[in-house]
Amino acid sequence: MVLAQLGEGITAALSRMCRATVADDAALTTCLNDVSHALLRADVRFEAVRAAIHNVKSTTNPSTLPPGVDRRRAVHKAIFAELCHMLDPGKPPFTPTKGKGNKPNVVVFVGLQGSGKTTTCAKYAAYHRRKGFAPALVCADTFRAGAFDQLKQNASKAKIPFYGSYTESDPVKIAMDGVDTFRKEKCDLIIVDTSGRHRQEDALFEEMRQLSEATKPDLVIFVVDASIGQAAFDQALAFKKSAPVGAVIVTKMDGHAKGGGALSAVAATRSPVIFIGTGEHIPDLEPFDVKPFVSRLMGMGDLRGLVDKFNDVVPDDDDNDELVPDLTGDFTLKTMRQMLKSVQRVGPLGQVLSMIPGLSAQFMEKGKEKEGQAKMKRYMTIMASMTRKELEFTNPSTLMTESRIVRVARGSGRPVRDVAEMLEEHKRIAKALSKLPLKKLANNNNS
Ligand code: GDP
Repeated sequence: MVLAQLGEGITAALSRMCRATVADDAALTTCLNDVSHALLRADVRFEAVRAAIHNVKSTTNPSTLPPGVDRRRAVHKAIFAELCHMLDPGKPPFTPTKGKGNKPNVVVFVGLQGSGKTTTCAKYAAYHRRKGFAPALVCADTFRAGAFDQLKQNASKAKIPFYGSYTESDPVKIAMDGVDTFRKEKCDLIIVDTSGRHRQEDALFEEMRQLSEATKPDLVIFVVDASIGQAAFDQALAFKKSAPVGAVIVTKMDGHAKGGGALSAVAATRSPVIFIGTGEHIPDLEPFDVKPFVSRLMGMGDLRGLVDKFNDVVPDDDDNDELVPDLTGDFTLKTMRQMLKSVQRVGPLGQVLSMIPGLSAQFMEKGKEKEGQAKMKRYMTIMASMTRKELEFTNPSTLMTESRIVRVARGSGRPVRDVAEMLEEHKRIAKALSKLPLKKLANNNNS
């Protein structure tokens, strides 16, 4: 999962507070100290952390809370709001629209060398093709030897049309020719990869300016490497000054503890982060949305992300409804079966589990993914031998008498202890989910 350490730090702090006998000032202080340490370790700016913690403290003070409001819940809500605030640039990004006839969307990528720009161009193209666009890639990076071959290789891997030149040395001319070529070919999303440099320097900014003027892009995307943490603030500002940057993609979020710092630093420049890069391969690009992202970070899952992932991999004619579990109603065995089915279908396991609230801890201990998968398979086999009534009953343990457990075990060819274990697991997840404000979360995610 992206930002695993930060997420673990925050969820551990919250669950410690939930377990505390009373949610008094001491429990709150410990919880907030732990949350702030987790944020600082992720390289979030100290002043931003201090302000967030101060706000949580003042909005959850018992003297200001309306009577009858549970303080633990109020703290949870306040931390959620503060994290969202930290990552919210307050500005919606431009989103390309499909099939604009002879006026295609032109998107120019800028960023320093090594930030992951070329790789991200190909990921971005492949992502939009999955959404029904007709994308094309143009290599206007004439500075780095090998950029042309790299983009060409990525483009052919992702089966995206590609334009570039070994001989032309003027990036502006290549960009204009490329855009022209693909406009004639009726592509509706033309992505231009530009030169990077090792350092921010005038020559780079001048080239970006000329290229922007010539191609008149609908969107300029700045690509930044998560490993620089809060230093992303200065870098994003410098690029914004020299080109009309409309959105940001933060790469290498898979490997960097400083990712939280990079994300919040970019948001502080009022530039919306639209995607995060989570690996070296073409599918490793996740749309970034503040509320679902914070939900996942706080262990509350990301229902919309899950549905989105489905739409990516499950064909339109498939029965998606059967596969997307409704976690806002009663958590029955049938819901659990849908959860397991969806995880098996969508994979990879780790990424999907982190989107489903309450599930990851039960089925995916770190390094034990294989066992988790075997367990899921066992449970599915067992549930196939149960009656519809048992699967749809809110509290199936009460229906499952000893003799029924033995019958189900025999029917599924599994030992009795496996059936008992599955019923226990169901109870545990149901309990974990019952503590989460899922109805609200689903509404938030959909708003
Ligand atoms: P450019 O110089 O900005 O065009 O950067 P490249 O696209 O050549 O990427 C530099 C290195 O970063 C390559 O080894 C990429 O495979 C790697 N890379 C790019 N994006 C990601 C990402 O999201 N995660 C990881 N782990 N590596 C990435």
